[in-house]
Parts: sequence; structure tokens; C-alpha cells
Amino acid sequence: MPESSTMLEQYRRIKSQHRGEILFFRLGDFYEMFNEDAQEASSILDLTLTKRQGQPMCGIPYHAAKTYIARLLKAGKKVAICEQKTIQGRRGLMDRDVVEVITPGTVVEDDFLEQSANNYLADICLLHGRLCFAYLDVSTGEFRAHSLPFDDRSKEVLRAELYRLSPRELLVQQSLLDQANFLQVIRESAAMIEPQPDWTYDVFHSADMLKRRFGVASLKGFGFEDNDPALAAAGNLLEYVQEMVHQSCPHIRAILRFEQKDYVLLDEATKRNLELVKNLSDSSRRDTLIEILDKTKTAGGARMLRQWLFQPLRNKARIEARHEAVSFLYHNQILLGDARKILASVLDVERLISRLAMDKAHAKDLRALRDSVEAGLALFQLIEAEHPPMALIPRVSAEDKAECNQVIATIDSAIQDDPSVLLTEGGIIRDGYNSELDELRNLHKNAQAVLESYLEEEKQHTGIQNLRIRYNRVIGYYLEVTKGKLSNVPSHFIRRQSLVGGERYTTDRLAELESKINGAQERIIELEKRLFLEVRENIKGNVAALLECAHAISEIDCLASLAQAATENGYTRPVMCEEPVIDIVNGRHPVVEMCLPYGDFVPNSISLSRDNQWFALITGPNMAGKSTILRQTALIVLLAHMGSFVPAEAARIGLVDKIFCRVGAQDNLARGESTFLVEMHEAAFILNTATANSLVIMDEVGRGTGTLDGVSIAWAVSEYLVERVGCRTLFATHYHELTTMGLSGLRNMRMAVIEHDGTVSFPKRLEDGASSGSYGIHVARLAGLPDGVISRASEIEQHFHQLERGLGQEQGQVEENDAVPGRIPAYSFSPKPSKEAYIPDAESKKEKRAQMRRTGELFSPEDLVLSELRSINPNEITPLGALQILSELVEKLKQ
Ligand code: ADP
Repeated sequence: MPESSTMLEQYRRIKSQHRGEILFFRLGDFYEMFNEDAQEASSILDLTLTKRQGQPMCGIPYHAAKTYIARLLKAGKKVAICEQKTIQGRRGLMDRDVVEVITPGTVVEDDFLEQSANNYLADICLLHGRLCFAYLDVSTGEFRAHSLPFDDRSKEVLRAELYRLSPRELLVQQSLLDQANFLQVIRESAAMIEPQPDWTYDVFHSADMLKRRFGVASLKGFGFEDNDPALAAAGNLLEYVQEMVHQSCPHIRAILRFEQKDYVLLDEATKRNLELVKNLSDSSRRDTLIEILDKTKTAGGARMLRQWLFQPLRNKARIEARHEAVSFLYHNQILLGDARKILASVLDVERLISRLAMDKAHAKDLRALRDSVEAGLALFQLIEAEHPPMALIPRVSAEDKAECNQVIATIDSAIQDDPSVLLTEGGIIRDGYNSELDELRNLHKNAQAVLESYLEEEKQHTGIQNLRIRYNRVIGYYLEVTKGKLSNVPSHFIRRQSLVGGERYTTDRLAELESKINGAQERIIELEKRLFLEVRENIKGNVAALLECAHAISEIDCLASLAQAATENGYTRPVMCEEPVIDIVNGRHPVVEMCLPYGDFVPNSISLSRDNQWFALITGPNMAGKSTILRQTALIVLLAHMGSFVPAEAARIGLVDKIFCRVGAQDNLARGESTFLVEMHEAAFILNTATANSLVIMDEVGRGTGTLDGVSIAWAVSEYLVERVGCRTLFATHYHELTTMGLSGLRNMRMAVIEHDGTVSFPKRLEDGASSGSYGIHVARLAGLPDGVISRASEIEQHFHQLERGLGQEQGQVEENDAVPGRIPAYSFSPKPSKEAYIPDAESKKEKRAQMRRTGELFSPEDLVLSELRSINPNEITPLGALQILSELVEKLKQ
């Protein structure tokens, strides 16, 4: 515990206001933690826990705090930083105050942030029948809000939004948390959750606050009516941020409405299944679309590209503007190369600006900002000189550019080339910027020379040639005049000491020099600090212009990245149209093609149109390439909508409003739902949400249940999609029954299979027609299952086929539930089963079915006994054990 009782009181008082946070209590050069904070932090940070007066405590040096804070944030903790305030001339207990609370959603230091992703703090609430969202990236100033009607789709909407934003911290209205199904979705997001009392959501209070904050009379300019419930979430969020960071955050300059209708809707499962930014195997970035596509050179560009990927455009003109810009760079490779070279020298300007705006930028940050802004201006000049299309013209006005130049000039004149990052050691301000500082530095560097020159001045002035400047501890610096020259002493000499041989004097100027020399170092540091803060404050006035510049740099970087990806990967410009068509000539899967040796990927064409056939039912064996063609089609459509070129020889894409991609039979144990339930939830969501302009991709949906259920559901879902929704759909299935649906609008397609000399190969070619078999056993052989198992499986398969044919012939006598396979012939030891093994027993099929009903098993008791015998190693059992097993087996055969 802090030792003095007054400090203890102070600690208690401050801690009582920061119960939910780990309190870093500054004591000299350390941040100390006490009691339960100390216990918690010491275990997270591996610190030694000590005890003072029986109370646990631990501490960290203040200069190393960043790494510790980063680890606490990672562990889901918030940290309140309590500093001591130096008050000149006061003794006794230092004043202390919390200067900021660092939370995962409000940090702006690079060390705590992921470069290529936004760091969102989000807020959700349910108000006036609408589900409201607000989100803010404090590190870039982006602030948005929107609301959607609350209905039975809200859970999926919430899931999609949380996936899109991946907030680090999430403020949630308490009553929303109380609803179990929402709580479940909220918990799935990796965000730190902060429950908020319902009363904190107040539309009118928030609208007022936001209007004041942004200095506007109405929020209409930002796209909000004053009674828009989304404002309540936005207001609550902004108040939370201000409370945490103790800052006004001038870089948060506006609140914008996020309009879902501007973007192609991609729900959470679609983004996941298409492996846009995370793969399905280990959730890393490996083998994802973003990995292939992201050729950006700046952190801001990388973040923006990720947004473009998650928010493909729906407006044809805007999409085409991006295509036009990409095409321009694609056809001007020298310009593209030069632009990327400049971009490579740009640092994370957006976050530098945020730190500037939040008074956290140090001198090196300012230099970095200056260099990056200069590079940005050079980039704009380079591009503008080429008369590019609209989308490439940076939207930075001449005034903003002038402001940026002003910032560069200010930093150039004030800040050294390689300044210190600390305010406590000087070495920040350039020589020649401030005369007082120059003098102090001069003094400090050559105190002796300064005194000499002053002495020379006085010699000249008084004519006392033997005048000397000396120093002693008692009176400091003094001028010494010998007796013979006393008559020459001028009136501004002030006598300090009399000696036998002469007198000692000081002057105002000497006293001034003395105090300057004595305190020079401290004063240099103080003055540099003051000047630096002035410069920073001055540049802060240019935040708006700087942000425009940063935004334009990111946008150019994204377009250049798309042009570079198109160049490196051989993409072509898609043609966009309003008609609901998809016409892809020799399309490729952007990620799978990269995993294969060059030229090994087999391109495929696909053509769907609402006027003709819009539902492709794709059959084919496993491993024939169904999933790949499905996903590649969705990815090509998505790429085209985000403004990218596409991996195809040619593509004509009719605008879509939503893309759904479902992959059947995936367990989602984390959600505690069965495979089948998940499949059905997802299918229901699609059927209720898809429109005639959507693109639906369904891969093996219905696999999570028994065959008969599965076929029936897949059939009904297909019918609904073809006839009721009428959207462009690719539906892959191994249920061959579906190929007989015969609906107009449905096109049967299959993956080609080549059978040759008893072997089967899959050339990965999509063609018209229905597939004839599933070739599962061939795939099993390819996968390396032992020969014995393969031949046994063939034997069983043949038997099923025969049984199926037999049952088919006796259809009249068969009850529905009788579709149970008959007895399987016993396993043959020979590597190749004898011919007889395939022939079913001579007993009538009816009898076999009766037997099956009796045993309820696929295998007969003889089969089971044989298999048990096979598993016994006689060398490993005792005679008594053998006897026991024998009697058990005999019993089994008797049953
Ligand atoms: P299915 O869905 O029919 O089981 P997949 O689409 O998963 O088959 O493809 C199986 C494997 O075949 C993939 O892992 C991929 O490497 C390869 N493949 C798929 N399509 C192609 C293609 N067009 N060209 C080359 N290889 C392909």
C-alpha cells in the first residue's frame, strides 16, 4: 500500500472511480499496482508480487509501460493511467490524476494496433424497433452509424456486422445482452464487451451533443434526421471515448451514415466460406483472397482495400469509375511503378494524424508525418500530370494542398531531422528556429567563450585592460578590478566583495549570463518542450487537410494495388451491366490457381441469365472441382463489384444486390448447434433474404441429415430458389436425384469424368449434363486407403446396387421404410474378392429384409464374430482369457 496515509486515501479515492480498470499509480519512476489489481496484473504480466503491510503490490518502470499495457489489453483488461502532477514550489503529497484510460477500442499507439485492419470500437442498441449500430476507429477518425429494422433476420444481420467490423471493443445495451440469442452472437465476436445501461441511449440528447460537437445546426448534412435512433448509439459511443481518452479528438470530424443499400450484402457465413480475409482451416490470412489481392504499399491502403472487399459497390457508375482507374494504371505500367515506389515511402499517415490530434505525437511522428505528406503531394503531382480518369484524381483541394505544404514548412523549420522521441531530453528543435533557444544552446556549448566575449566588451567599454571574470562558490561569477583601476569602474558595476588588492563586481548582464549558464540545460529542455508543443498545436489546426491527403493516398494505393494484382495475376476488366446475367469465359479461382504450378489450373466458363437458365445444378464426384467452380464464380462477381479486374478471359457481370455462399455439412461446435440445424438456419436465411438480383452459391447443402431427408430438403430448396426467388444460383450436389427435377430455368451441369482402362480421372472441366455416378471409391483410392479396404468397399457398393435394382423391381411389395440394405457378404481375405463374394445369398430378398429388421445391423452376427476373431492376438492372451472370449463368441452366434 502507498505508505503515507494521505497517499493511501488518495489511492483509494482514485481507485474508487476506476473499479473496472487496472490502475497504474505513478510513484516516481514506477507505475505501481495494488491489491486485486496487483494480483491480476502480476499473473498476466509475470511480475513478482510483493507485499507491503500485508497488501499485495507490484510495479513496472514507467518507460517500459507500453509493452505491459499491450499485454494487459490483449488479456481483455483496461488500464487507467494515473500520473503525478508537478506543482512548482509545493511540498508534501503530490497531486495525482487519471490522465487517460486505455482500452482495446480507444488506443492509438502503433504498438497496440494491427496495421492492415481498422481498430473499431462499436456500439449496438435496440431502440424504437430498430437495431442500431455505431462504430468508430479512434486511430483513424472514421465514425459511422446506421440502423436496421428489428425482425427475425436481426440475429444474422448482427452477426454479419460484427464480422465485417471485427470490433476490438463492443458497447452493448444491457437489455440486448439479456436476450439469449443475441448474447450468443455477441459472444462469438472476439471483442471486449462493455454492457451499457439502457438509459444511456437517448436519441435527442445524442443528437444535440453531436450537433454541438460537429458545429452544425442539423445532422441532415451527414444523412441523419434528428430523431434517427442510430444517433443514440453514436452519442453513447462518443461520450464513452471522451471519458476514456480525456481528449476532444479533433480528428473525428464527422459522423457518416453507413448505407447498406450502397453495398453488396455479404453475410458472415459468406465472408467466411469464401475465405476473404481468413481461411477456414486455421483462420490465418494464408490462402485467402486478400492475400492474393493485397499489393498495397501503405497501411492506410491495406485497411481501405479490406473495406472495399467487405463492401463491394452496387452502383454501376462507381464500380466502373474504379475499373477505369485500374485500367488506366494497368495500361501505364511506368506510372504504376513510379506511383508504387512513392507509396512505399509513405508511413501510416492516418494514425500519425490521429496521434497528432490527440496530443500524443512525438517529434519523430511529426517528421514521419512531414515526409509522408511530402511523398503524398509528389504522388498527386505525378498522377495529375498524366490526366487520369476521375477516380484517380485525388480529391484534395488546392487549399488543402497549400495547408499540407505549410505543415511541411513548419516542421522543416522547427524540428530536427532526427529528433528525440522524448520531451525530457531536448534534441528536438532545430537551430535557428528560436533565438532564445539558440542563445541558451550557445551558452551551454561554450559558456567560457560567451564570458570571454562579454569580458572583451567590458574591457573595451571601461578601458580596464586587466579586467577579469572569475568564479567562486560563494558569489558565483564576478568581475575583478585591481586597486589602480577602480576609478575606471562604470556605474553599472555592482560591488559584491572588497579585497586587499581590489574589488569584485557583478553586473546585470553577468548575473543574467550566470543564471543562463547555470540553468542552461534545464532551460533548454523546458524551452524545447514548450516550442515543440506550440508547433504541434499549430499543426493540429491542419488536421482536416491532412486527413484529406491521407485519404487520397490510401485510395490511390488501393487502385494501384488492384492494377498490380491484375498485372501480376493476369486479370481482365469485367463488363458490368444491369441485366441479371453472369457470363464468365475461362474463369479461374484466384486463390486455388496460385496454389498450383503455373498452367495447371483448368479454367471454366459459365453462363447464367434470367432470360434463359439461371440455376446451375452441378453434379459430379467428390474432388472433381465442384466447390472450386462455385467459389470462383462468387469471387469473380465480388471482385468485379469491388472495382477489381477478374481472373477470367472475359466476364460480363450483371449487378447483384447480395451474395450468399453456403457450404453444407460443417459442424459448428463452437456455436453448439448441430450441423443440420446450422444448415437449415442458413438456408432459411437465404430463402427469406435473397432477391431476384442476388447470387446464391450452395455447396452440398442438405448433407447434414439422412439421405432421404437430405434429398427432399435439397430438392425443395432448389425449387424455391428457381421458381420463387429466381436468383442466379450455383448449386452443387451429390444427390443425383435432383438432376431429374426438370424445371425451366435450371441447367444441369456436371464435372467431367474420364474413365479409361478401369481408372478414373477428373479433368476439372465443367460441362452440360448430369453426372452418372459418385466415384467415391475412386476418390478413396486416390486418397491412399489400403487396397484391401478399397476392394471391400467396391464389393459392398456392388451389393447395394444389386439390392437397389432388386428392390426397384419388387416396388409393388415394398413398404416405404423398407429401403434397408440386405446382408453384406462376408469379408474376403484375398486381396481381390472372389466372384462369388459379390453374389447375394440365394435366400429371397424379402427374407433378407426380415433378417435385417431382426438384427437391425448392417453386418450379420457371423460377420461380427469373424471380425472380433481377427482382432485377437493369441500370443497376448492367457488360456483363461481365451476361454472366456470363446464362450462370449458362442453366445453371440446363438442370439
Ligand atoms: P469437389 O467440390 O468436387 O469435391 P473441389 O472443388 O474441392 O472438388 O476440388 C478438389 C481439388 O481439385 C482442389 O483442392 C483443387 O486443388 C483441385 N481443383 C479444383 N478445381 C480445379 C481446376 N479447375 N483446375 C485444377 N485443379 C482444380
